[in-house]
Amino acid sequence: MLNGIGNIAYLGAAVLFILSLRGLSHPSTARRGNIYGVVGMLIAVVATLLIAQGAGLAVVLAAAVVGAAIGAVLARRVEMTQMPQLVAVLHSFVGLAAVLIGFTNYLMPMGDIAGAELTIHLCEIYLGVFIGTITFTGSIVAFLKLQGTISGKPLVLPARHMLNLAVLVACVALGYRFMTANVVADGITALLIMIVLAAALGVHLVMAIGGADMPVVVSMLNSYSGWAAAATGFMLSNDLLITTGALVGSSGAILSYIMCRAMNRSFLSVILGGFGAASGTSTADVGGEVIATSIDEVCAILRDASEVIIVPGYGMAVAQAQTTISDITRKLEALGVRVRFGIHPVAGRLPGHMNVLLAEAKVPYDIVLEMDEINEDFHTTDVVLVIGANDIVNPGALEDPGSPIAGMPVLEVWKARTVVVSKRGMATGYAGVDNPLFYKDNTRMLFGDAKTSVDALLRQLSAA
Ligand code: NDP
Repeated sequence: MLNGIGNIAYLGAAVLFILSLRGLSHPSTARRGNIYGVVGMLIAVVATLLIAQGAGLAVVLAAAVVGAAIGAVLARRVEMTQMPQLVAVLHSFVGLAAVLIGFTNYLMPMGDIAGAELTIHLCEIYLGVFIGTITFTGSIVAFLKLQGTISGKPLVLPARHMLNLAVLVACVALGYRFMTANVVADGITALLIMIVLAAALGVHLVMAIGGADMPVVVSMLNSYSGWAAAATGFMLSNDLLITTGALVGSSGAILSYIMCRAMNRSFLSVILGGFGAASGTSTADVGGEVIATSIDEVCAILRDASEVIIVPGYGMAVAQAQTTISDITRKLEALGVRVRFGIHPVAGRLPGHMNVLLAEAKVPYDIVLEMDEINEDFHTTDVVLVIGANDIVNPGALEDPGSPIAGMPVLEVWKARTVVVSKRGMATGYAGVDNPLFYKDNTRMLFGDAKTSVDALLRQLSAA
């Protein structure tokens, strides 16, 4: 009876997760999508508690209370700029869970299953532990790279593809040993050796990817964590976990593909790594004179303009300047200036990072345009305000075939009459590449923290 109710609840939760994903595909429906997701997860947790009986119930309840407490504290403490790191850590938890559940499943009595059924079960365990281990170590490295603890530069080992292939072949061979082991100890040995190899593979795959390609890594690990959850679902014969894992796995894969297309990269090349490495053949003449500007001058330039495009980047998120930028937008519109926003698909540190911040600051969706929708308009624009962006406005990506970000489409802001760049100094962006934009004749550098700068600009615009 309880199992029947549980299964119906699982079905309802799965439908809500699908509706949630659909809602999250557009800013205007994202809030509703989120609510569907929360309700779906609540139903899933309650149904799992109902299905868990006896001693299991107490353990699940205790785990749920501890998990909810940690989740609530983390969610309150984490800054918006630390979200990518949090996501990476959460992916690593999913990977670790798959490994632990795989082990437990193998050590638990298998009952009377035999023949093909046993082979399939062992295959589920092996695959779950394999994907889980790669997800775990890959996510830890991604976390360290996003946190800046280890360099974003790609680690390019000699014959790295052969190394990956050799590890993969060894894991397949160990899989055969695992499935044909007559005693548990032999199976455990094969599983443990595979874990060490898969752990190294996870580290190497992510270490080999350069800074500018990290967005693809984040979405790819998201996809891996989904497949690890799906494999766990098969091990536990839990339909909801299989469905949810498949949803996360496939949506992560689709997102990775979209990201690759947006960055003009081949999916396979990115996951095999080595992109973003400086080739040493850069022909760009980065350097020259930097023209610094002042709040007074920027205020005057903006007041004279009729078309303005604002390009936000990671620095806007760090400075938390979005609310003031929203106020500046309204001020300029009141002065008869047409203001729009240009959003690069990999701006910030998370897919959709800038859209979330601008929505939070109540910037209307209809003036927030994607790169493809606005790139043609820069040459007819009077002023572009670049707020804490760097890699996404780097002309070297188009002009310098030797650049580590060569071929990545960027917002062609330099085509506007005047470009004002708000940043603290001359530091490079996440990809670690110098930016020739800062030395162009029509570029004015507004040095200082973005929030301090835009606050002063708003005051000046209001006073003038
Ligand atoms: P970048 O990281 O290229 O540049 C951000 C710039 O902001 C820096 O050069 C920094 O310069 C400036 N900055 C930092 N803090 C402040 C502040 N308080 N006030 C003003 N400026 C500040 O960001 P972009 O958004 O241009 O590009 C995103 C990069 O991140 C791409 O390379 C992308 O591939 C990568 N990435 C994106 C992910 C995603 O999913 N979107 C995930 C992982 C990586 P200074 O120190 O001089 O102020």
